[in-house]
Amino acid sequence: MRNRKQPPRKRNPKDSKKPELLLAVVANEKGEIFDLEGFAAVGADGKLLSPISTGDTIELPHGSELMFLPDRMPVLMDLETGQIGPVDRNPYSPGERIFPVAAFNSPGVVLAQSCAYEEHPGASILPLFSYGAVGWHGHGFRSAAIVVDTEPRQDLRLMPRENIVSGVEQMRMQLPDNRLARHLEHCALTYGCPAGKNFFLGRYEAPLPTSRACNARCLGCISLQHDAHLTSSQNRIGFTPSAEEIAGVALAHIARVKNSVVSFGQGCEGDPLMAARMIGPAIAQIRKKTADGTINMNTNASLPHVLAPLLDAGLDSLRVSMNSVRETCYTAYFRPKGYRFSQVVESIDLAIAKGKHVAINYLNCPGFTDSPEETAALFVFLEKHPVNLIQWRNLNFDPQRYLQAMNSVVPLGPAVGMEPLLQMIRKRFSNLQYGYFNPPKERFQASPDAVQKKAAP
Ligand code: SF4
Repeated sequence: MRNRKQPPRKRNPKDSKKPELLLAVVANEKGEIFDLEGFAAVGADGKLLSPISTGDTIELPHGSELMFLPDRMPVLMDLETGQIGPVDRNPYSPGERIFPVAAFNSPGVVLAQSCAYEEHPGASILPLFSYGAVGWHGHGFRSAAIVVDTEPRQDLRLMPRENIVSGVEQMRMQLPDNRLARHLEHCALTYGCPAGKNFFLGRYEAPLPTSRACNARCLGCISLQHDAHLTSSQNRIGFTPSAEEIAGVALAHIARVKNSVVSFGQGCEGDPLMAARMIGPAIAQIRKKTADGTINMNTNASLPHVLAPLLDAGLDSLRVSMNSVRETCYTAYFRPKGYRFSQVVESIDLAIAKGKHVAINYLNCPGFTDSPEETAALFVFLEKHPVNLIQWRNLNFDPQRYLQAMNSVVPLGPAVGMEPLLQMIRKRFSNLQYGYFNPPKERFQASPDAVQKKAAP
């Protein structure tokens, strides 16, 4: 780190009662990241800008990445004047332009505040990541995020490449003619997909990508982008695996993993409901062989009449993706083709009625998710549709462009704060679980607190 004199003594900031402000972290044109003496880091919760401190941040989770934001200037707080505003040049290196730095947090945490910045005129949209507020304190980076899941399911330190490679070799012998297993090799070894890696490592949850099509056109779709200025982070699967290939991969995983989960609906595919003709027979084949394992589907849940037979065939749990529980905001982001939000809700009610475990994959963006309008709507939604779990996920999309898009359909009031939102929901819905990952059925219906004491594999 440049601009530093004496490294201070390493001390747990929580010791001192009074939270300490974090030093601002910025980057120069070359992408070198450094802290800026005299300035405090600032977080954005919609239009609300505030300095972040040791009291409302966590140590940057392992595996997180720092993002350099081009075409933008950081919004910082001058420690001398207390003024919050954009800073375009490095005061210690005249003329040197500086840029915002954001945290792309590793799984298990939800953003409390986004990175604070101002766009330069003509700025291009940011790539498909989430951009959390980050600062420097003591000897480390701290992130404005809230821990919602402590399970090490996607902890990269527990996924050594050599073990993945030997897992691939083993599956080549076990499933020699299985195209889906070969596809997952690409996911694990090339895309670095943690779900793909876990299949070859024999851990937690295995992915069952199946669908080439989708009946939504999400602004932030990571498998097929309609916006010429955005790149999807992975290509959609190029074939439709057979029921036998799907069941083969699922059974191989269930046979060797305790409390295993196998999931349809991955980042490298469209929506699994569009491939129900393969998925139904695959579920039947799996359940004919074993009652073990949890068969889960991550989906936009747009087609209740297609979902119903899959639930009857043996689907154990459903995770429904949504950025909002209000039709206008949902439609503005998902841009559904041939379905309406009401059908998504119908699917949720159907699965609850059939006693299945239902989770919301709630795509969070500070300033929208904790807006008073969305907060009020979420309370009403959860009253009417008692799902089991909210997976608090970070929306991988340019936060300012997203807020503009949402604000264009429904004006956003001043944010209530993500931490207060999570506390309010938890207080009102005490049986509602919080998390980040799809739980195995062994942990269904457990109380929220029991969930946190989950056994490592
Ligand atoms: S539902 Fe999934 S696959 Fe479909 S457009 Fe949205 S992100 Fe993409």
